[in-house]
Amino acid sequence: MERFSLRSKKYIPDKFYNIKADLDEMPKPPLHPVTKEPLKPEDLSPLFPEGFIEEEASIERFIEIPEEVKNIYSVYRPTPLIYARYLKEYLDTPAHIFFKYEGVSPTGSHKTNTAVMQAFLAKKEGIKTFTTETGAGQWGSALSYAGQVFGLNIKVFMVRISYRQKPGRRILIKNFGGDVVESPSNLTESGKNFLREDPEHPGSLGIAISEAVEMALSDEKYKYSLGSVLDAVLLHQTVIGLEAQKQFEDLNLDPDIIIGCVGGGSNFGGLSFPFVGKMLRENKKKIKFIAVEPKVCPTITKGELKYDNGDSAGLTPLLYMHTLGKDFVPPPIHAGGLRYHGMAPLVSHLVKKGIVEPRAYEQDEVFEAARIFLKTEGILPAPESAHAIKAAIDEALRLKKEKEEKVILFNLSGHGFFDITAYDR
Ligand SMILES: *Cc1c(COP(=O)(O)O)cnc(C)c1O
Repeated sequence: MERFSLRSKKYIPDKFYNIKADLDEMPKPPLHPVTKEPLKPEDLSPLFPEGFIEEEASIERFIEIPEEVKNIYSVYRPTPLIYARYLKEYLDTPAHIFFKYEGVSPTGSHKTNTAVMQAFLAKKEGIKTFTTETGAGQWGSALSYAGQVFGLNIKVFMVRISYRQKPGRRILIKNFGGDVVESPSNLTESGKNFLREDPEHPGSLGIAISEAVEMALSDEKYKYSLGSVLDAVLLHQTVIGLEAQKQFEDLNLDPDIIIGCVGGGSNFGGLSFPFVGKMLRENKKKIKFIAVEPKVCPTITKGELKYDNGDSAGLTPLLYMHTLGKDFVPPPIHAGGLRYHGMAPLVSHLVKKGIVEPRAYEQDEVFEAARIFLKTEGILPAPESAHAIKAAIDEALRLKKEKEEKVILFNLSGHGFFDITAYDR
């Protein structure tokens, strides 16, 4: 096949897909951090917009995408489904490799998909400010873009090590009009506690979440926005998989293997869930789903499945998920977006059910895969996305040995232009 890229407005879906409608057993519910009772929607009201809480609790199969949100999506969606002809030729494999390229979004990653929807919901309810955390800055910049689109203030707590190592996205946040500070900061009690422990604390996503949550709770015009992990975030990300399904329909093809990298689980869930749902409903074709993480932050390959807080200070609800423990501070690897101690409960659930296969790679082999991809397909991948590339290459080479002509689809969740110094090192 020639290298081609499918991109036409008709692929943008009208509705998000909710995988909970197709699960025969529900994941265990989130618990209140103090009472340890199942969380009631009103428990979340101080923290999140009502519309978001409704989506989080919904078990409807499809949830309408508002017209205003679809209009903003059309700035960069549908994202292209690209046939990786040159990677295939380089690997000399009979497998067909496709990738969905989310790097064409205004901030270079899939995170804009949920940022735009969350900012829309907040604006509709008259909320003035969103507080949030960001690791490498992908989420902070995505939410700042969305805030600017709908006229919301965005206050970002950025993990210190990334704030210093990766100025690119900090600058992008500011240019979108967001307000960004190093975390731990002295703006919150949780931040101050960590700074007392270590004035040069490198920070972690868990700590930054504590700070953003604390600030959101301090003022009723403030709400908090989370860029991954929660059911509603994964719901918004299903635009990726729904588009891919329509694009594959037009090709008269079906993927046999679907791969994504996992930090909190949103780009993987977004691409894979519509396909998981179809597989569960039709009970016909067996698809192999692979979730890839770094070996130094092995949440689903080594973590325990249990109730744990989403943040380090213990302010957030308890989620039933694979976790390395809320106090785990992962080593500073280049794939900053994959440094999170927990996993989306929905992804954890599918791992437990044996539907999703967890896999972990070392940083060096991931960068080697990224360089091969850059040279063959001409796109500099985000170090996070390169984990998915590595798995796609391994699968393609396995299929070469087995002489099988299968279809591989992976999510290229973002580009690596802001991570260029990581390639230098
Ligand atoms: C944030 C990010 C990730 C990891 O987050 P998920 O919620 O697991 O998707 C992966 N890739 C890129 C490019 C990111 O920005």
